[in-house]
Amino acid sequence: MPTQPIDVVLATTYRCNARCIMCNIWQNPSENDLTPEEYRFLPSSLRYVNISGGEPFLRDDIPEIVAVVKERAPNAQIIISSNGFMPGKIEKLMKEVLKVDPTVGVGISIDGKGETHNHVRGIPKGFDKCMDTLTRLKGLGMTNLRLAFTVVDDNVEELPLVYKLTKELGVEFSMAVAQNSSHYFKTDQNNFSGIDLLKKNLGPMVEDLLKTSTPKNWLRAFFAHGVFRYAAGEGRPFVCNAASDFFFVDPGGDIYPCNIMERVLGNVRKDSFENIWASHQAEKIRGEVRACELRCWMVCTARTDMKRHAGQVGSWIMKNKTAAHLGNFELELPSGTGEQPKGGNGKPQPKGDNGADADKTKGSDDGLHVLNDAPPPNKPSQPSA
Ligand code: SF4
Ligand code: SF4
Repeated sequence: MPTQPIDVVLATTYRCNARCIMCNIWQNPSENDLTPEEYRFLPSSLRYVNISGGEPFLRDDIPEIVAVVKERAPNAQIIISSNGFMPGKIEKLMKEVLKVDPTVGVGISIDGKGETHNHVRGIPKGFDKCMDTLTRLKGLGMTNLRLAFTVVDDNVEELPLVYKLTKELGVEFSMAVAQNSSHYFKTDQNNFSGIDLLKKNLGPMVEDLLKTSTPKNWLRAFFAHGVFRYAAGEGRPFVCNAASDFFFVDPGGDIYPCNIMERVLGNVRKDSFENIWASHQAEKIRGEVRACELRCWMVCTARTDMKRHAGQVGSWIMKNKTAAHLGNFELELPSGTGEQPKGGNGKPQPKGDNGADADKTKGSDDGLHVLNDAPPPNKPSQPSA
């Protein structure tokens, strides 16, 4: 029997009202998205469900989708990832969502302060709209809120500003580097080249997290360090468990191992999830995942890997926490021994080309904040390495 999954990203629509420079979903809208009832296939083993898009709040039935998710996976933490550009509608829908499950969180993409965010997301006054959305959600009593920063060359220097903003606002912070994906972001044009700037701007944040007395923050520091190493061409430190711990569902019901790999396990409109998950095709794809040369580092697959490799994570934290307190912490540069990751479309990438849209890894989130409190992952049916 295969491992039962604990983490999923549901791309509930590929309609989007943003015009982001690192994602072409908005140019390729979906039709005939899964209905709330069609999400009844979700397995009860799930512990994290990221409701994503496109822009999920373009759907009027998000409360109904949350209700089905809650019924099918009652122990799951649900996070909705949004670009935050519809303050009034998001507030209205979240009022209904919170009646279904008051613990639901919302992540809002923020890729810089003011004009930088507006430029990256392609929406005039977008930053102000996002702040309005955040204020309204706080007004509903929500505390499970975060800002998700997607690093591109155009905004890498604003990473510290947004991190500082999250501290001022009292919300969580998550990050990723813009990702290529043919089936999801529908682009192979993300070619991040600012590794030195990333090191300069990310290092103080990682150091700050390590200096706190909060274990959650130490895990976030490890994750952020992984983002840097991956951006620098090192690749993920652990073998990937996509299609075992995690899966991705597109708006039409196709099941993928992750946001990036262009392989379909099956479609829930044509077969039961149980059959798809136990199929020969799924097992074949699990083999491809274990050999995946992309070696990306996204929270949706990194989270459970970090649990599996708690010893390695713990020793990195101890070593670097000490360095941070002694004032000699530095983000490690890649050893140069790692294999070069390849682009999300399977093509080899130049050094530093990688990442994930933070509002998708959410999960992508989704995001650093969900690294904590994870239940132990299921024992894999096959060795993970
Ligand atoms: S990154 Fe998100 S907000 Fe931007 S176009 Fe893609 S789906 Fe829309
Ligand atoms: S390494 Fe990345 S692209 Fe490859 S299977 Fe894992 S999550 Fe997917």
